[in-house]
Amino acid sequence: MARNTRTENQLLRRKLEDFMAQARQNERKLRRFQSLELHLIGLHSLYDLIKAILYPDYATFKWDMVTLVLLDPEYEIQRILEEAHIDLEQHPTLMFASEPAELETLYPHSLFPTLSAYRPRQHARLFVPGSPRPASVALLPLVRHGRLIGSLNIGSHTDTRFIKGVRTDFFEHLGGVVAICLENAVNHERLKRQGLTDTLTAVNNRRFFDQRLGEEVAHAIREQQPLSCLLLDIDHFKQINDRYGHQMGDRVLMEVASLIRAQMRGNDVLARYGGEEFAALLSQTCNAAAMEVAERIRGSIAARGFGLERDAPGFGVTISIGIATLDPGSLDQTHPVSGEFLVGQADKALYDAKAGGRNRVISSGNMQLDGEWLVAG
Ligand code: GH3
Ligand code: MG
Ligand code: MG
Repeated sequence: MARNTRTENQLLRRKLEDFMAQARQNERKLRRFQSLELHLIGLHSLYDLIKAILYPDYATFKWDMVTLVLLDPEYEIQRILEEAHIDLEQHPTLMFASEPAELETLYPHSLFPTLSAYRPRQHARLFVPGSPRPASVALLPLVRHGRLIGSLNIGSHTDTRFIKGVRTDFFEHLGGVVAICLENAVNHERLKRQGLTDTLTAVNNRRFFDQRLGEEVAHAIREQQPLSCLLLDIDHFKQINDRYGHQMGDRVLMEVASLIRAQMRGNDVLARYGGEEFAALLSQTCNAAAMEVAERIRGSIAARGFGLERDAPGFGVTISIGIATLDPGSLDQTHPVSGEFLVGQADKALYDAKAGGRNRVISSGNMQLDGEWLVAG
């Protein structure tokens, strides 16, 4: 009897020790997850957040790979990152889905994390082609307001690392935090944009332009790439208002803005600079290439019939464009270069275009150093 009790005691003690060990392991795990989550919550820029999600300390978590698929049907997130000069090709583990259905197929039954063996048919597109395949995967749905906004995908080369049926509380919590952080960061960018967008023409406003000007100049110098500035002013716009009314004037402004935008690349900056004046920054664009873009813009506006919608005969509109280019290759590295000077040179060229008869493109050429001063080349 005494012997039985002793064996039972030993058994119970061993069980208790196992439980304690398990509890200690869970506590360590909890701390690892908490520290990652706190780090994510503390980040404000969308890019910093995405980097922290994609590249956690893999060794700490015993993960071998992490990828992130984000729902981005309107290319909004991609545009935000591109405008910040993020080279998305440097981050192949960041992917975008253009339709909700692409994500929904990953979670057909419920919006909970799924742990399983790697299944090529379902999982191949979640991991980077050409890199070693994982043996087991944990897929974390990123859900906001009941809708999938993305999927965080973790892979391991060990087939027993992620197995079906194991509790997923930590992953559920992490997925929840990641989803909220991503939504916040995108909303924050959206808000920033709203305050920087012209409500009539939907292009950026002067505040945005002034903010970006310094950044673009610094980027051009750092990368030793040319940067061209265009100032565009609609010709005799006052007459359009006088003849056809302000509402028609507004419509012309909207249409002209979209005709200009149509000739520019997605990450070029276009802003409404003043009433009927626009300003553009073309990165990695030399003076000759900028002149070609400007000529295409001028031509497309001159060729367009405006005010045709109410069976009216329509009328023509023209635009004058001034250009100046900063070519860091031709400048003294140590000389401070100001964005205002670049815009000032484009403005002079615009003035010449007006004086020369309007409906034309005039360039001040490359800014150059002349003794102590920068001058138009
Ligand atoms: P120029 O060829 O020399 O540029 O002549 P312009 O008539 O275009 O230039 P001016 O600066 O004399 O007139 C600009 C006009 O643009 C005056 C202003 O009433 C009008 N304007 C400015 N903002 C708006 C707007 O948001 N909507 C409308 N409809 N008109 C605007
Ligand atoms: Mg004008
Ligand atoms: Mg004007």
